[in-house]
Amino acid sequence: MNEQKPFIVDENLLGLVKRLRMMGVDTIDLPGATDDELLAKANEQNRLILTKDRRFFQRIPQGRAYFVTSGTPDEQLFEVLRQYPLLEADDPLSRCFRCNSLIEEIPKESIVGRVDAKTFGLYDKFYECPTCRQIYWEGSHFEKMQSKIQKIKKSLG
Ligand SMILES: [Zn+2]
Repeated sequence: MNEQKPFIVDENLLGLVKRLRMMGVDTIDLPGATDDELLAKANEQNRLILTKDRRFFQRIPQGRAYFVTSGTPDEQLFEVLRQYPLLEADDPLSRCFRCNSLIEEIPKESIVGRVDAKTFGLYDKFYECPTCRQIYWEGSHFEKMQSKIQKIKKSLG
């Protein structure tokens, strides 16, 4: 079994980024970066490159990249998680979808005026990304994602 590493994905796998983050897996992308910039970042942060670009893959030193063959982002997620199984540390719904930082629970008072009144009235648990300040809450979308995560975990065994 392969050792799990944090990932960096190429621009052909952007749908996969959010799915990996949803599962709690440390994953970054570098929009607009060249192959060399991606490689440099991967080396600097010791990240494994996920790529769908065969020519790029062949340029990368062995063991530093994984070539993704699946077509849809959902299939790609399964493919990667079969190859690099989830670890205890991969806590689903703990990461910011936008920037990959670990989100933190914040007191409800601190988001006054930062979400719409309906959301504020309906929910009590809120989280904030310390990096990009995105706010998250445990709404219906959250529940849908949780059941999706359970299904994914189940089918991975
Ligand atoms: Zn963020």
